[in-house]
Amino acid sequence: MTLNRRAFIGTGAAAATVLSAPMLGAQGKPRVVVVGGGAGGATAARYAAKDSDGAIDVTLVEPTRAYYTCFFSNLYIGGFRDLSSIGHSYGTLASDFGVNVVHDWAVGIDRDAKTVSLAGGAVLPYDRLILSPGIDFVDDAVPGWSVAAQNKMPHAYKAGSQTELLKAQIEAMPEGGLYAMVAPPNPYRCPPGPYERVSMVAHLLKEINPTAKILIADPKAKFSKMALFQEGWQKHYGGMIDWIGPDFGGGNVSVNPDEMNLDIDGVVENVDVCNVIPAQKAGRICEMAGITEGNWAPVVPATMQSRMDENIHVLGDSTNQGDMPKSGYSANSQAKVAVMAIRGALTGSRVFPAKFSNTCWSLINTDDGVKVGASYQATDEKIAKVDGFISQTGEDSALRKATYEESLGWYAGITEDMFG
Ligand SMILES: Cc1cc2nc3c(=O)[nH]c(=O)nc-3n(C[C@H](O)[C@H](O)[C@H](O)COP(=O)(O)OP(=O)(O)OC[C@H]3O[C@@H](n4cnc5c(N)ncnc54)[C@H](O)[C@@H]3O)c2cc1C
Repeated sequence: MTLNRRAFIGTGAAAATVLSAPMLGAQGKPRVVVVGGGAGGATAARYAAKDSDGAIDVTLVEPTRAYYTCFFSNLYIGGFRDLSSIGHSYGTLASDFGVNVVHDWAVGIDRDAKTVSLAGGAVLPYDRLILSPGIDFVDDAVPGWSVAAQNKMPHAYKAGSQTELLKAQIEAMPEGGLYAMVAPPNPYRCPPGPYERVSMVAHLLKEINPTAKILIADPKAKFSKMALFQEGWQKHYGGMIDWIGPDFGGGNVSVNPDEMNLDIDGVVENVDVCNVIPAQKAGRICEMAGITEGNWAPVVPATMQSRMDENIHVLGDSTNQGDMPKSGYSANSQAKVAVMAIRGALTGSRVFPAKFSNTCWSLINTDDGVKVGASYQATDEKIAKVDGFISQTGEDSALRKATYEESLGWYAGITEDMFG
């Protein structure tokens, strides 16, 4: 039992009630702290504040003042969006929903005291903590690469300056130059993301540098929407893209950022741009909290509670939850389930069975959009897929255009759902 709980018991309330009751904040409200203001965390902060009608004190901890979505960042590379269109601020969460937005890093979690320490020195107490810190990269996943080399060989798998850098490097490629991508092993953020990126890089190069080539070294024999991408690459960018899967050494790669080359199974290629997307793991604060098992944080599907601490809920890419892909849509969906469970625990509001959904759209070329999606339910073991759908090869151009337009509506709607 924690010190704070003992102090609360000291108020004289009946012990049985006290044990399940929240610790009350300064204004007599239960406290929820959310770490990470991305797809999962911003949604959670907004819903916790909005749906509780101010009955819960919500603090969001996020170091950046502008969040650039990874979703649609490939479209920025392809020239379909400008960067400002994928940037979002936290002003509305503060002004319209009363979220206490703190721009800082969470650097420690004391699970016994139920506090979060920030880099700036503040200590935030919580009744429930929500962690949605996204991904970090597995050390030495690609020999020769580390974050110290990310300016020479960008990952652009956290959006913002990395995405701008990658696009600038592609635009500066010499005529007929080579762009290489080192694709990540499963599981990783946004399964179709690397392949949508290749499509968007090809689209850009076809316009500005049509004799340039694209090489993908991939440790996976199969990837998301593979048939759809391969059909699209053949149709729009014939001869430009060379995909090297594990049968041809695509899983045996090292890089040399100083020499700007990569070694694929003993064959060294000089490259003009090298986009290294390393293997991934839960955002580091999850490790620091001691709630990871292997690379990810296991959760109870019905509530998104950590399997190691019932007072902590984990969302989005950091989780090991089952069948859902690591996507912004998934994180948004999981946030609503977690908040419903938290409100139930802290305010006694009604809790309905958890339901989740996800769709991932990808753009292959102008007006050539494809999608894959599913709905999910919580079982004891995992978030389990109930039914799904996927675009088909050979679809007519009107359907592909409609699919792309659907994705525009989705982006506008979901970012409003996250940031207000
Ligand atoms: C190229 C690309 C394309 C994508 N396309 C799509 C798509 O079309 N559709 C889709 O649904 N998804 C897409 N995704 C995936 C999507 O971006 C992620 O799945 C989603 O952002 C995960 O949400 P999250 O909340 O887990 O993490 P994030 O959105 O990354 O948010 C994590 C936040 O936590 C903060 N943080 C980290 N550590 C700390 C700390 N210690 N203290 C405080 N704050 C911290 C970070 O600053 C960050 O803002 C794409 C991803 C990529 C890379």
